[in-house]
Amino acid sequence: MIRRMISTIKNRKKKERSKLYRYTNRTLATIGFAYLLLLFFPNPLFAYSARVGQFNFHSDRPIPSEIRTVVERATEKLATSPLYTTNESFDVFIAADQWRRTLLMPRSPGASGASYILTGNTVLNRCDIKGDICTNDQPKFNRRPMHAVLAHECMHQLMSKELGLIAYARLPTWKNEGYCEYVAGSPSFDSSQGKKLLREEKTNSSHAFRYFTYMIAVRSCIDEKGMKPRQLLSQHFDFQVVLDESMK
Ligand SMILES: [Zn+2]
Repeated sequence: MIRRMISTIKNRKKKERSKLYRYTNRTLATIGFAYLLLLFFPNPLFAYSARVGQFNFHSDRPIPSEIRTVVERATEKLATSPLYTTNESFDVFIAADQWRRTLLMPRSPGASGASYILTGNTVLNRCDIKGDICTNDQPKFNRRPMHAVLAHECMHQLMSKELGLIAYARLPTWKNEGYCEYVAGSPSFDSSQGKKLLREEKTNSSHAFRYFTYMIAVRSCIDEKGMKPRQLLSQHFDFQVVLDESMK
């Protein structure tokens, strides 16, 4: 009798545990799915929107009319690349509030911007649209023309369309970031200071300097060696060798 009672209690507990397990799993799956949906369609988080040229802007702050100037300058930069096409449109989310950036660019919420190839979305940090300035959360090298950041991030999208997802994912960082920097121009690291450091074989631990070196290497391949961008992106080159040669 007692044995049967103990067995009934054990079975009930087992059922409750599996019920709780199923409930937790279902809740986590729902949260995961909702988050994924938000990464693809963050629009409801942004109260303001504007379509200018190929760009669909969404922002958590009002979008002034000067956004047109920013777009003109960014398009001018993008159009210098043979990878640019007028058929593409770009979804850009300007997130002044930290929590939106933490949600939408969780790996780098303090960066000036980030572009996501799978969702096709670009997220930008705080922007002063009237002043054409985009800021990041770094203590130094934290301001850059907004049009340059926009051109950089949209170039990632164009490159992924040109190369296809797999080839794009396999692209070395120096070529990927370096080409976007080359097209965007106006790096956040001071050019003359960067060149001086490279000539003296010194370095700087900042993210901005790393990107500067990527840009210098790409610029050397295209402007000095006469490579076509498609050739640079598809062939193998050693970054350090290219960078060293660019300083000779
Ligand atoms: Zn980038």
